[in-house]
Amino acid sequence: MKVKKEIDRREFMKSGLVSALSGGVFLDSFNRTRTINNLFEKDSRKKEEDENKIEYRKLGSTGYNASLLGFGAMITTDPAVLERALDMGVNYVDTARGYQRGNNEIWIGKVIKNRRKDLFLTTKEGARSKQSILDGAEESLKALDTDYVDALLAHGLSSRRDVLNEDIMSALEKLKKEGKARFVGMSTHSNSAEVIDAMIESKFYDLVTVKYNFRSDDGLKKAIERANKAGIAVVAMKPMAGGQGYVGSKMGNLNPFQSALKWVMNDKNIAATIPSITSFQHLNENFNTMGTDMSWSDRKILDKFAKVTDKLYCRMCDVCSGRCPENVKISDIMRFLMYAEGYGELQLGKDSYKSISFHETASKCIDCDDCVVRCANKLNIRERMVRAESLLA
Ligand code: SF4
Ligand code: SF4
Repeated sequence: MKVKKEIDRREFMKSGLVSALSGGVFLDSFNRTRTINNLFEKDSRKKEEDENKIEYRKLGSTGYNASLLGFGAMITTDPAVLERALDMGVNYVDTARGYQRGNNEIWIGKVIKNRRKDLFLTTKEGARSKQSILDGAEESLKALDTDYVDALLAHGLSSRRDVLNEDIMSALEKLKKEGKARFVGMSTHSNSAEVIDAMIESKFYDLVTVKYNFRSDDGLKKAIERANKAGIAVVAMKPMAGGQGYVGSKMGNLNPFQSALKWVMNDKNIAATIPSITSFQHLNENFNTMGTDMSWSDRKILDKFAKVTDKLYCRMCDVCSGRCPENVKISDIMRFLMYAEGYGELQLGKDSYKSISFHETASKCIDCDDCVVRCANKLNIRERMVRAESLLA
């Protein structure tokens, strides 16, 4: 693989130079010197190529120029992938207190230790009370081994009431005043148009991370445009609309994920994207998507992708919210199921499922013969909930 080769070359260069210099002698043959010089040239040529390809956009009124491809670290386990992304010029890194039970922040902290000032680092706190958010933020700073994050986000808000919640706002304000968060914002997976409009109304938040992809509705697209006009940086998460697990072999040789990412990147109201990047291959594919336009064939691929995942992929439109007489948290549970089935991250699905109260889980669905909730996108809610309960409980 091309990137792996680049890394191997660099490792070789490093070890060759270190041993030669530490022994007090320089390279012992003309040919070997020439080989090393060639490697240097190739390495710097590659760096130059990457720099030419990368696109930076302004992160709203923060004034920061972020790489359009950011690094979604939620399910990454190999720190070398992040290291390589930073070498290529990616400068936006997204994590959260809860990812990988806190370990995500720890390994990211180690990777960025010596390049902290070169990137825009965000983390998210899922708590809702003021003190818990402040405590969570302290834990995040410690885990990330840094004095500040560039943006601290309240995690997973889904209503105007959440956005204007005094506890959340005063915790974020305090963190900003103390210099522990340079900017503040939130992430939202559902009811996002309402959330974004409330952010604009508040005149308080700087950045929003929103689930946005080619399956998102027009209402969200327009809210994103309004946010951008209001100076709020909009960062798109989950741009791939599901994951490989939903596709299997049904797309044949077609790769729908580059087309899906391209669709999001082509929206000029999006400041950055944060697809999950878990391998050098993902990194390369996503990186090469920057600067490319949607083509007719991308649209055909996305049409097919939509059909293949139609009855599996929850759009998180939240139309079903509050409709279950047993208070089952349907759209959240659909998302956790997507982690397990779509991303292949069973443990993440289980951990997320545990985070909701038992009374809101799909355990009720097992004995419920007649689901009264209708999905706006024709997903079979009861079947999906029973599947979630059997897989995640
Ligand atoms: S289950 Fe259906 S109605 Fe509910 S959020 Fe998902 S797509 Fe929307
Ligand atoms: S199956 Fe019953 S308990 Fe489950 S979501 Fe539908 S109505 Fe609610």
